Amino acid sequence: MSHYLKLMMDAIFGRKMFKNEIVWAYTGPSNTKRYFPRKHDIILYYGELNSTFNYDSIRKPYDQKTLARRRYSEGESSIISASAKTLEGRSKSEVENLFGAGKIPEDWWADIPVLTSQKERTGYRTQKPLNLLRRIISASSNKSDMILDPFCGCATTCIAAEELQRQWVGIDIGEKAADLVQMRMKEHLGMLYDGIHRTDIPTRTDLGRLPHYKTHKQTLYGFQGGHCNGCAEHFKPQNLTVDHIIPRSGGGTDHIGNLQLLCGYCNSVKGDRGMEYLIARLEHGNTRRGYMK
Ligand SMILES: [Zn+2]
Repeated sequence: MSHYLKLMMDAIFGRKMFKNEIVWAYTGPSNTKRYFPRKHDIILYYGELNSTFNYDSIRKPYDQKTLARRRYSEGESSIISASAKTLEGRSKSEVENLFGAGKIPEDWWADIPVLTSQKERTGYRTQKPLNLLRRIISASSNKSDMILDPFCGCATTCIAAEELQRQWVGIDIGEKAADLVQMRMKEHLGMLYDGIHRTDIPTRTDLGRLPHYKTHKQTLYGFQGGHCNGCAEHFKPQNLTVDHIIPRSGGGTDHIGNLQLLCGYCNSVKGDRGMEYLIARLEHGNTRRGYMK
């Protein structure tokens, strides 16, 4: 699936901002006998040219084989014997002093298991392990940076960000999302959560002052070739009205991208609702086509 997403992300962030396709691989039970069990996720990593990459914060220990090989090739057998067993019993810092703090993980991560502890489980279907988000956030941000998760679900990103002393904003359409954040904050961090929770529709501030929406009628008539955007019937300009696709009560703006022409009937059916309502009503046949033509 990720190839579709890659094209979309290229369009949003720019192809040159692409840094890595990270494979998060895991194991788990599977019932399929018709193809290989699907046991990996793709993480698409984008960033500006000089964006943060804290490789030292995500180093992981070398495996025993690598250590033994390095000892041999670098002639360190005088320091400790070539047997990997001699590492046992040494403290982590002793090993680190000998061989460095570990290596930067490759672009495939097989060292983060899917949720194993019952304690971490919330019952949310697509829940990701905290360790996965810890690595992503540690690598790509610094303390007090802002982390945004626009589909925060069961709040794993928020928890990891809070732990790592980042600021964070989580957005989710689920009504229970805010409760879940509060619950997990208490459970994982033992803190009294005092975040701000908003359910009002945010106002766009990036558009500046827009001309009155009705001034676009002529242009829209050209765009739509004189057809109503609901029933698709052709009308004279005076029988079409300018409609907000996303109603203003739902955060829709006067920007021409949010405007369309509807005939009187379609406009009255749609009212303050979204297009999906109008389309459903029209498809249901509960219409009087040609009305006011
Ligand atoms: Zn219509």
